[in-house]
Amino acid sequence: MTDKLKPCPFCGGEELSIESCKSLEECEEFEGCNDDGYVAVVCDMTAGGCGSSSGYYKTKQEAIAAWNRRNKNEQGRKKKRRSSGRD
Ligand SMILES: [Zn+2]
Ligand SMILES: [Zn+2]
Repeated sequence: MTDKLKPCPFCGGEELSIESCKSLEECEEFEGCNDDGYVAVVCDMTAGGCGSSSGYYKTKQEAIAAWNRRNKNEQGRKKKRRSSGRD
């Protein structure tokens, strides 16, 4: 399924929710926001998550894809960053 979400790259949380911009005041700032609004995958702070988000996309599928892509990217970056000797 396309709507399978990977755990949060920052806190490892799996309590992810899909938020519509309609629930935010910022909504009006989204140009061309339609009836469905823009959606973002969010690491649910109310469930102990860190609140990071995928950013807003026009469709759920795009938001999910972006979240999963980010997940991969962040993990890759973390691995690269694992330098030890600073002395
Ligand atoms: Zn909106
Ligand atoms: Zn998180």
